[in-house]
Amino acid sequence: MVIGAGPYGLSVTAHLRAAGVDVRVFGEVMGSWRHAMATGMFLKSTPRATDLSAPVPGGTLADFCRAVGESVLTELTPIPCTTFVRYGMWFTERYVGEVENIPVRTVGRSPTGYRVCLASGAEIDAAAVVVATGLAALAHIPPRLLPLAPCGPGPDAALSHTSQHSDLSRYAGHRVAVLGGGQSALESAALLHEAGADVRVLVRGPRIRWGDTPALRRPVLQRLVKPSSPLGTGWALAAVCHAPGAVRRLPASARLLLHRRALGPSGGWWLRERVEGVLPVHCSRRITHAHLRGEQAHLTLAGAGEGPRKLSVDHLLAATGYRLDLDALEFLSPVLRHRLDRVPGSRAPRLTAAFESSFPSLYFTGSLAAPTFGPMLRFVAGTAFAARRITAHLTGHPVTTGRRDGRHPRQ
Ligand SMILES: Cc1cc2nc3c(=O)[nH]c(=O)nc-3n(C[C@H](O)[C@H](O)[C@H](O)COP(=O)(O)OP(=O)(O)OC[C@H]3O[C@@H](n4cnc5c(N)ncnc54)[C@H](O)[C@@H]3O)c2cc1C
Repeated sequence: MVIGAGPYGLSVTAHLRAAGVDVRVFGEVMGSWRHAMATGMFLKSTPRATDLSAPVPGGTLADFCRAVGESVLTELTPIPCTTFVRYGMWFTERYVGEVENIPVRTVGRSPTGYRVCLASGAEIDAAAVVVATGLAALAHIPPRLLPLAPCGPGPDAALSHTSQHSDLSRYAGHRVAVLGGGQSALESAALLHEAGADVRVLVRGPRIRWGDTPALRRPVLQRLVKPSSPLGTGWALAAVCHAPGAVRRLPASARLLLHRRALGPSGGWWLRERVEGVLPVHCSRRITHAHLRGEQAHLTLAGAGEGPRKLSVDHLLAATGYRLDLDALEFLSPVLRHRLDRVPGSRAPRLTAAFESSFPSLYFTGSLAAPTFGPMLRFVAGTAFAARRITAHLTGHPVTTGRRDGRHPRQ
């Protein structure tokens, strides 16, 4: 059984079904991309880093665009989230087949493997479970902000997380502060501004980092000095993308450092003109205290070399990212949650070379596998590597290394 029908769940299921494995997949196709991203958002990754993994050729984003008559995407074409959702649906029809749009409520041990309870009330026994639930339950808001939302953060409270929004135009005419300096913060701020909100961005770091505009053709020397990879240019990124299996063999402390440092917060190159000089961005600012007065959020800000400042807004949007914490996966039974081995120094599962956790036949993919295999697993670009390894392990066949669906890394 596969839980989750996002890029990882769909790719793993496509490979398993092609290998003749009897597998059921639960979740809404591309659910996060429909409900946890605001209308008008674009992907930060480039088209060549945004392919789901099909077991046979013909399933790339470019193939989809050709098949449905969408205009050709180049490295200079930001991909609308809506296009990516349509691609996921097309991919599902072609390579996955039936997806059961029912949330999984609990997963626990059973005498033969795992007992899975669905929101419909049905109970299923599964010999193996692949967790591909993405970032859904892992949104992080710093605890000091929580007094702003006594009944819990959300779009109607004075505090919410970016993942709780599909339409930011609801804040037209409102004063909104966005906390964070990454793509989510900057793109949300641009959308809020364009929808008519009075928005400002509060960034902890000293400046915003912007991605470089990709070059369609790079001279040979430049390519040698800074090779391209799905995650960007440079030897370090090229290495972790080329051989995620080798990343796993690094000491856990080195992997965690890689996980924290690689690809820190930055804005996509195409977003810059919608933010810089267009809306106020305050760098080197931390919120030291937050409280509600009436329905308004009152914030105390500390800045480098400055005394505290006060700011009142109607809403604080936390673009404060995600924490890879197994304990947040409430659908896992307490026994599984508490007994699963973790990567030392983290709360993410320790995984074998086949993505298997310390419980036999319980696999984790996507971001939760990034502390094991490196940053590529945080992105769609890691789907081929994960789908092949899990399928090989479950079928007992060696991993195929042929380039059957375009680029994919060494196993
Ligand atoms: C704002 C934002 C922008 C991003 N942009 C990019 C980008 O440009 N390029 C890129 O490569 N990556 C991007 N990412 C990272 C992105 O999340 C992953 O690359 C990709 O979506 C991971 O796929 P996934 O299948 O692991 O997770 P998801 O896409 O999140 O899919 C997981 C699915 O599991 C479902 N699910 C969760 N719990 C259950 C349950 N109990 N029962 C059933 N189903 C469940 C969810 O509804 C969801 O549909 C972005 C992330 C965010 C938050």
